[in-house]
Amino acid sequence: VQGQQEQVGILLELMDVDERIRSLKRRVDAHAAEKQRKAMEAQLVSTGLAQEQARLAGAEKRHRDAVREVEVSRTRKRESEAKLQSVKTNDEYRALLKEIEAAKENMKRWEETIAHAQEEEEAAKRMGATVAGELQEKELAARDESARFEENLSAARLEQRELISNRTALIERLSAPVRAKYERLWSSKGDTAIVGVRQGSCGGCHYNLPPQTVNEVRGGQRLMLCEGCGRILVWSQPG
Ligand SMILES: [Zn+2]
Repeated sequence: VQGQQEQVGILLELMDVDERIRSLKRRVDAHAAEKQRKAMEAQLVSTGLAQEQARLAGAEKRHRDAVREVEVSRTRKRESEAKLQSVKTNDEYRALLKEIEAAKENMKRWEETIAHAQEEEEAAKRMGATVAGELQEKELAARDESARFEENLSAARLEQRELISNRTALIERLSAPVRAKYERLWSSKGDTAIVGVRQGSCGGCHYNLPPQTVNEVRGGQRLMLCEGCGRILVWSQPG
């Protein structure tokens, strides 16, 4: 009984170490997800900035094209005006006036295009500046998070190495049959081979344990297994 009791005590410690390894892994995973989220946020803002830059470039191109078109129309207007002096017939004169009118209309239309393009350039520049500021913040946050993650990861690796060496030492103290049982369970159930009793049920599969089993687990005199899932039961806390 003395030996059995000691084994139960080792199993209790082993469960604690397994739980700590598990929670360490959860913490690292959660932090990795947070790091990833911050990087994605920065990526999203950077896409937004590229969109504003493309919008600005588009408006600038429309602006340049329109300036050229205004010049073309202005030249046509000037040429027609110059010809006015030398026309011979009224028809020719009227035709020239029509051309001049058309050139003026075109100039007006292209100047409106220039005004619209300028408005859009201004808007894209304003938005671009805002988004660039936001990007800087997000990139900084992502870099900080990444650095924090790397730092925590090194700490977590150290802690994990220590926990694993504790675990190995505990396993070595188990008697051969208990150890075989634990290792078999480990290979089928992973790191929840040993579980506590929770309000009369198995902490692993929630099987409702007979009161006799609960009492024996509480007594800690011998190795008790869940009838539902076969896991090793220990008394870790009242419940
Ligand atoms: Zn169970």
